[in-house]
Amino acid sequence: HVSRPPEIEDLRKDLPIVMMEQEIMEAINENKSVLICGETGCGKTTQVPQFLYEAGFGSSRSSVKSGMIGVTQPRRVAVLATAKRVAFELGLRLGKEVGFQVRHDKRIGDKCSIKFMTDGILLRELQNDFLLKRYSVIILDEAHERSLNTDILIGMLSRIIHERQRIYEEQKNQEILLRNRTSPENKVYPLKLVLMSATLRIEDFTAGGRIFSEPPPVIEVSVRQYPVIIHFSKRTDIVDYVGQAYKRVLSIHKNLPAGGILVFVTGQREVEYLCQKLRKASRKMVTNSSRRIGKASALIKGGCAEDHNINELSEAFEIEGDLSMQQTDRFSSYDDMSEDESDASYDSDEESDLEVSYEDVFGQNNVASDKFFGEDGNLTSMKAAFAGKNTLKLTDGKQSVLGTAKGSDHRILSSGKNTMESDIPPVSPMHVLPLYAMLPASAQLQVFNKVKDGERLVVIATNVAETSLTIPGTKYVVDTGREKVKMYDSTNGMETYNVQWISKASAAQRAGRAGRTGPGHCYCLYSSTMFNKFHKFSNAEISKIPVDGVVLLMKSMGIDKVANFPFPTLPMLSAIEEAEGCLKVLEALDTNGRLTPLGKAMVHYPMSPRHSRMLLTAIQILQKDKGCSRPNLVLGYAVAAAAAISLSNPFITQYEDNYDEKSDTEASERVLEKEEKLRKKKLNEASKASHENFCNPTSDILSTAYALRCFELSNSPMKFCMEYALHLKTMEEMSKLRKQLLKLVFQQIGDSQQNFTWTFGKMVDVEHSWRDSSKGKQLFMYEEELLGQAICAGWVDRVAKKIGAYSDKDRNLNADRYQTRTNEKVVLHRRSSLYRSSPEFLVYSELVHGEQHPYIYVATTVKPEWLVRYGSSMHIFCA
Ligand code: ADP
Ligand code: MG
Repeated sequence: HVSRPPEIEDLRKDLPIVMMEQEIMEAINENKSVLICGETGCGKTTQVPQFLYEAGFGSSRSSVKSGMIGVTQPRRVAVLATAKRVAFELGLRLGKEVGFQVRHDKRIGDKCSIKFMTDGILLRELQNDFLLKRYSVIILDEAHERSLNTDILIGMLSRIIHERQRIYEEQKNQEILLRNRTSPENKVYPLKLVLMSATLRIEDFTAGGRIFSEPPPVIEVSVRQYPVIIHFSKRTDIVDYVGQAYKRVLSIHKNLPAGGILVFVTGQREVEYLCQKLRKASRKMVTNSSRRIGKASALIKGGCAEDHNINELSEAFEIEGDLSMQQTDRFSSYDDMSEDESDASYDSDEESDLEVSYEDVFGQNNVASDKFFGEDGNLTSMKAAFAGKNTLKLTDGKQSVLGTAKGSDHRILSSGKNTMESDIPPVSPMHVLPLYAMLPASAQLQVFNKVKDGERLVVIATNVAETSLTIPGTKYVVDTGREKVKMYDSTNGMETYNVQWISKASAAQRAGRAGRTGPGHCYCLYSSTMFNKFHKFSNAEISKIPVDGVVLLMKSMGIDKVANFPFPTLPMLSAIEEAEGCLKVLEALDTNGRLTPLGKAMVHYPMSPRHSRMLLTAIQILQKDKGCSRPNLVLGYAVAAAAAISLSNPFITQYEDNYDEKSDTEASERVLEKEEKLRKKKLNEASKASHENFCNPTSDILSTAYALRCFELSNSPMKFCMEYALHLKTMEEMSKLRKQLLKLVFQQIGDSQQNFTWTFGKMVDVEHSWRDSSKGKQLFMYEEELLGQAICAGWVDRVAKKIGAYSDKDRNLNADRYQTRTNEKVVLHRRSSLYRSSPEFLVYSELVHGEQHPYIYVATTVKPEWLVRYGSSMHIFCA
């Protein structure tokens, strides 16, 4: 029996999916797998687990359904947010009946009924329990996103539900035939699979019997989609889309009725930048608006404004800014969008004027105030310019006089025949919040909090907000039409982050966010012509990233012919071949492509095969080599290095805004600007201090590992990160991951006693050694070299040799030039720890496309004999 909070009962009534509970549950009961499609916000993620829970899944009272309800998400953000929400809605406890698990965070009770997790976690669980016996139903959420892990899970689960059914029937037959009861703990019941998708792009899952022999029934949840008007830009600003977004948000805020604004940009840096600018603008607006009101009414009060300085008047109304902006836009409707959206017409008085193009009146010129006020610059000519627009309607003194460009909902100047009074309410502040994956969880959840009365919520988000999270009250969407995509060149390991156009499907998703709670608007910062060039759908992740981890995982699960696996989208054959090549270099596969014992040991760790190889090599060397006097500390470092390299670079080099918004006076505005400069200076100093403190001239990886050690030893992590310009969340995650990896190391040692003779100590000894600050500042050279060899083993195919110097006077750059194995010329990044020591040979784990040159960012010094030992094809350099 479920008792929900009363306010939740009310909210649920409005969710379209709640009406379909019966239909959905019948489909799940009658089929092994079911596909549920419904627009974001219809209630899939929060409600379907509740339906299952209420139907008895995850309850120990029914043996058939007693297994947990497992829910996977491709994004970590969504795991915590939805677990918390579902626990709250059901009146259950988070961490008890409703649990969650992400890579290094886990809160789960013994009697857990519903478990939320990332798709990666479930994939890991599969390794130890191929039948997923702990679950009675698995929900794969956001299947349309086509994340690599979800794709693999779909393929795997199609087999598993089959297998569970087969064993279940076998057991039943045996019970009948042999009359022997299977003991309860060995009993297997059928498993249900529920795929959930926000789009109808489902052919990949259902077509041709490739995945499911009988295609799963599709349940479509029709969403009450309020009309959303799509406004395309007349032109597409190729470069400054963030600036365009900024202007657009301000214009919406000033001109349009209450309602949240959701802006899509491509990455964290853009999010922070835009937040900063908008907060500043908001403060300024609030201060200025009261001044402007005074000024406007002073100018007009005489009864007739004709003789007044037009510039002053227009400034009072902020005309120039708005019109020059409007002028570049033409508003039309999207007809390629889903039907709901193209049929949408939103008859609102305030908005109907927008249908008319400003260009018709003002031509292509850049509009300056003197142009549209006419040569004589008096208000009579203004009348002609503004008639019929939803903009400042100034006429002469004989007719009633002033309207405003700011939308007729507010700030209307009413007038009598000769007297005009201003009636402009002050501008309300914007409550600007960022949303991106690397933001701390508590900050992410802030978007769900109610804003103060009179404030407008503005969320600046990356793709995270496209489908995973529904932000309540969004009425306006500003879509830059771009997303950041990581591209990977597997021949040399070069990574590039490309900002590229989104797909039509993504554009529709983003626009749809505006119509969940009422009619809305989507402002596309690109033209309809550009939109028509977008791809229909984005590519599945599997076709974009290296699959070495996947191939290793599958081999370890006995799936030898990876190419024959029922992927919803087949990875490129060449990608599989490259992955197998890499795994052979790492000695995870033998020359016949079969898993080696080393490969099997590598799968044990939740990270890239390269990182596991490094860690295992360090352990191997430590076991053989008795010359090392501090094996526990070195093992501690090896584990830390693996954690360090598994996360993004924690050293902050770019200024990021995070001051709070308290002040709203001009004086404090100036103070803030000063503060900003001070902060930048401080960051530079911190960054320098960081380099001086943590730099290990032999390896960037070891530098980060050392920073991690100091971080863990510090009394105040937050202060520590400020002092040394480190990213707090990354450091915290790194620390958690380090502890998890250490446990896994000792678990592995315990599991395979016969293979390992670990003579150095217990886990606590390693941990103690790692935390013992008296152990000196850094490592001995012998220890560095030991770890260097381990790193070499993991990146032996990513080797570069010094070939000379490179200098660029303009940019004050004096770096060494290197040549990679694939004959690419690269330079060392000036923030690399090796920048000064510049060794003959190095291995790199990050190669990035710079403006001038590709450059190496994360590198480690190696010796030629190590390269030979770990099988690098050195002949290229020796020739
Ligand atoms: P879907 O998965 O179909 O996109 P959800 O189940 O995520 O839909 O959301 C359903 C409704 O619940 C939305 O209106 C959303 O705003 C609300 N909601 C979801 N998560 C939260 C949360 N953590 N706090 C408040 N409201 C939430
Ligand atoms: Mg969802």
